Amino acid sequence: MVPVEKALQGVLARIAAAARAAGRDPAEVTLLAVSKTFPAAAVREAYAAGLRAFGENYVQEGAAKRAELADLPGLRLALIGPLQSNKARLAAEAFDAVETVERLKTAQRLSAARPAGRPPLDVLVQANISGEATKSGCAPEDAVALAQAVAGLPHLRLRGFMGIAEPTEDVAKQRAQFALLRRCRDEARAKGLDVPVLSMGMTADLEAAIAEGATEVRVGTAIFGARPAASGVR
Ligand SMILES: *Cc1c(COP(=O)(O)O)cnc(C)c1O
Repeated sequence: MVPVEKALQGVLARIAAAARAAGRDPAEVTLLAVSKTFPAAAVREAYAAGLRAFGENYVQEGAAKRAELADLPGLRLALIGPLQSNKARLAAEAFDAVETVERLKTAQRLSAARPAGRPPLDVLVQANISGEATKSGCAPEDAVALAQAVAGLPHLRLRGFMGIAEPTEDVAKQRAQFALLRRCRDEARAKGLDVPVLSMGMTADLEAAIAEGATEVRVGTAIFGARPAASGVR
């Protein structure tokens, strides 16, 4: 087996084990392969192993990979890094999903910039569940109101919520932060929003996220290996 394929099987086994431990069907949890900083060739290899959905942190890097990988049918790219509103146009063109909507203005720009003839852009509202001042996302208490506003925009399709837990080995802490995001989802549902997606959990904490209801985990390192430290991206 090629390395990515082997690593992928390990990740799928972790996801399945975590789902079963939580009394959930492993099929409820999808995998977003985080290919940031890795070349298009790595995405190709993962695609050949069966993956279709990839996460990128930088708008320009994602747009470049979109162009390089235009021959792969069904490839889906999600933006999982912070989005400046001046990059909204390129993001709305290059990506199938943006998981990092944290203010209405950016969502409005994405909606306005989504090219005609393309399906609506899938979006998640990112909430800052770790409470760290340096982290992106709206305050969890504002997430549902933002989701309601985003749901009204014509060229976006609200799908749910995204969050990043604080880097800690304390599983109870991880779970408490993921539970905050789940409560946003539950509250949004109670208000009638269609929000099937809870994107939470990465290489280090996907088990805790799945225990708290993640429907998508975003995994980079465990699939592609360690990123060069110079990328500066956690
Ligand atoms: C880099 C990144 C990931 C993947 O992290 P790993 O620890 O490599 O699995 C997931 N989500 C976001 C938002 C990221 O920036």
